[in-house]
Amino acid sequence: MKNDDHIVIDNFNETMDNICEECKKEHESVNQNLIMHSYKICNSCNLSKRIFPI
Ligand SMILES: [Zn+2]
Repeated sequence: MKNDDHIVIDNFNETMDNICEECKKEHESVNQNLIMHSYKICNSCNLSKRIFPI
């Protein structure tokens, strides 16, 4: 039953991949913005959204 731990870790990594939903690029800022703003977005996309709000 030791394998249970691995399943939890795998799922965690899957949701915490650093891929921006806007540009589909991987960046470490994606995780920070996900925690801060609940948006899975990188800093450059986040900045462009602030300058050009839809
Ligand atoms: Zn982006």
